[in-house]
Amino acid sequence: MRKLGSGYVLHEPIGRGAFGQVWRGATVAGDRQVAVKVLRGELADDPEVVARFVQERSVLLGFNDPHLVTVRDLVVEGDTLAIVMDLVNGVDLRVYLRERGKLTIPAAVALTCQVLRALTVVHAAGVVHRDLKPANVLIDLTDPDDPQARLTDFGVARLAHGRSLTRLTGAIGTPLYMAPELAQHEHAQPSADVYSAGVMLYELLTGHPPFSAPHPIALLRAHMEDAPEPIADIPPPLWDMIAWMLAKDPAARPSATESNGELTRLARSGFQPAAPPSRDADHGTGAAAATATGESDAGVTALIPPDATIVTP
Ligand code: ADP
Ligand code: MG
Repeated sequence: MRKLGSGYVLHEPIGRGAFGQVWRGATVAGDRQVAVKVLRGELADDPEVVARFVQERSVLLGFNDPHLVTVRDLVVEGDTLAIVMDLVNGVDLRVYLRERGKLTIPAAVALTCQVLRALTVVHAAGVVHRDLKPANVLIDLTDPDDPQARLTDFGVARLAHGRSLTRLTGAIGTPLYMAPELAQHEHAQPSADVYSAGVMLYELLTGHPPFSAPHPIALLRAHMEDAPEPIADIPPPLWDMIAWMLAKDPAARPSATESNGELTRLARSGFQPAAPPSRDADHGTGAAAATATGESDAGVTALIPPDATIVTP
């Protein structure tokens, strides 16, 4: 057992990640169980990281959503930097998926929609996650029949972004889930998270991510140039939705809100394409009008802008 500042005790390590070790702990008062990520010593030694840590404090503490792991406190104590979060009773999505091989369509879509809802909240605050992947989605198994996704590590990639961390750990994030534009060192936009959510949904449905290559550079090239292999046994409107999220051009992707809306609607309709608009409503402008007015029930295929089509150059 170890003390952290005046407010927390750490009981035992429960995980280790790129940024540090995660402990199960509690408040000193004993009224709440917490998970505490103690950042690696090298990070805590870096003034740039410490400055960001302090800067990000109010952003990280400001989020409150059932599908986000709530950050309770950021502790700076001597040479220790720690993030105090709600303890999630479950496993991460990487482990959850490995145990099951792949998920059913309703389960994969439900968990993805929960993550997209969390992204909507994060994006509205101007924060891009940058490192969305199954390992950063915790699955709360308090009710085993109703698993709940909780997104974690938002802002942490940004917190540690910069020369210092790149120097320590190489590129941030894993190329398996990385949007193509990030390989060109573009500033990460919310659309990069939507891409990663598309990769994740693909993996939940098939058991493997859409692109793989033995070498990270080859993998990044695949994200930039290759069309994902369509998933054979899923309803076409669901595939259209995944292809839209995986558009190479970030501007062509749906937002997190749109993705959640469309996937939710598809799930409710049993994955049927939306009914075509009635003659009265359709004034001959078809898909263009639907896109322009943002009608969410206009049908996924019709909503995909032509330049979102994924082609190998
Ligand atoms: P890193 O991002 O530094 O790689 P993670 O955030 O992935 O580290 O944490 C490592 C592991 O610790 C996770 O896979 C999970 O098992 C555990 N963990 C992290 N946060 C929590 C939490 N809030 N509640 C329960 N377990 C957690
Ligand atoms: Mg993580």
